[in-house]
Amino acid sequence: MHAEPETHRFNTEEQITCSRYRSLLASKDRDYLLSSHGAQVKVSDLEGKVLGIYFSANWYQPCINFTKALVDAYKQLTSEGSSFEIVYVSSDEELETFDQYRSFMPWLSVPFSDLEARKALDKKFDVESIPCLVILQPDDNEEEAATRKDGVELIYRFGIDAFPFTTERLAGLEMEEKQRQESQTLTKLLINHDRDYLLSHTSPNQVPVASLVGKTVGLYFSAQWCLPCVKFTPRLISIYLKIKQNLTSDDDTKSNEDFEIVFVSSDRDQEGFDSYFLTMPWLALPFRDPTIKTLAKILDVRCIPCLVIIGPDGKTLTKNGRNLINLYQQNAYPFTDAKVGLLEKQVDEEAKMLPRSEYHVGHRHELTLVSEGTGGGPYICCDCKEQGWNWAYQCLECGYEVHPKCVRTVAKS
Ligand SMILES: [Zn+2]
Ligand SMILES: [Zn+2]
Repeated sequence: MHAEPETHRFNTEEQITCSRYRSLLASKDRDYLLSSHGAQVKVSDLEGKVLGIYFSANWYQPCINFTKALVDAYKQLTSEGSSFEIVYVSSDEELETFDQYRSFMPWLSVPFSDLEARKALDKKFDVESIPCLVILQPDDNEEEAATRKDGVELIYRFGIDAFPFTTERLAGLEMEEKQRQESQTLTKLLINHDRDYLLSHTSPNQVPVASLVGKTVGLYFSAQWCLPCVKFTPRLISIYLKIKQNLTSDDDTKSNEDFEIVFVSSDRDQEGFDSYFLTMPWLALPFRDPTIKTLAKILDVRCIPCLVIIGPDGKTLTKNGRNLINLYQQNAYPFTDAKVGLLEKQVDEEAKMLPRSEYHVGHRHELTLVSEGTGGGPYICCDCKEQGWNWAYQCLECGYEVHPKCVRTVAKS
């Protein structure tokens, strides 16, 4: 390649990138960023690269979780020679925690001392919640048409395949995902080259995956080292047994309907897996089976415990099984949109009968009944620590919130 116009065009682009990245990331008296070892790296080194600006903090678990995923993606991309860089914009509270957190990050950072630059970036990209990964394209013009703020979502959903995060690339991935979902079957999800069975507690300790086809199946992502998992498992067991019992006592003739759960373990050793699985009355994928990673990726499971429900046709019904179980217990079955819609209506009806305000034994202020339309929305119940949405009793003074079912009324003090 030699033509002069080519070179000329490249220079112009370089200038655009360079001045844009510089105006974002450098300041009057600083033209560098910090490497993970604390060395100074010129902002101009970012020229021509796809750039991720990463807003995060060490005191917030969702940030820590995402940082792990991002480190993996970054290492893979850079080892393949992809032209990608990340710049960390810290919301840490002090220099010490910033340094500590940053040492896990193989990319660059805006110096902690430059509060002004960090604030300006926050404001520029209108960052409402962390973690947030803003993606900038090197050849984007001043209008920033190609800037994306959903980098976290994209990395979780597509991993390194999302790179270079262009509209065309992402449209292609969306299409692939849609096709995969349309052709999804239970068998495709659960078997691999070496295995067409699941583990069972009853002899011969193996059940063919094929025997589950046509059932509603819950994939239970869980691990014994995870405290919320260990708390949720007994609840799930009792509800599983109730659903099974309702199905067998149902003398309707349409009762080829059935429900099963498959434990998808992220335990750290065989021993942990064995003892945890022993408490469960359902089936399991073998410990460290390669299908476990594939499932987590294609079903987009980001944290545990998670209960993904697969319908009788093999398509995903919901990834919200855990919340549905917590909210509606055995009534959540068969987890279809129609059933959930019905249950929501029921809850709305019941809520009409609830007192407008309550004093709850666990909180000193008065609690007011709220719904999505009146300042409610998704929340974590301060009593049972599980997710809730729509109806809640909320303290208007301090934000304390509980499920209506979790209120234990006390007399006004
Ligand atoms: Zn609750
Ligand atoms: Zn309060």
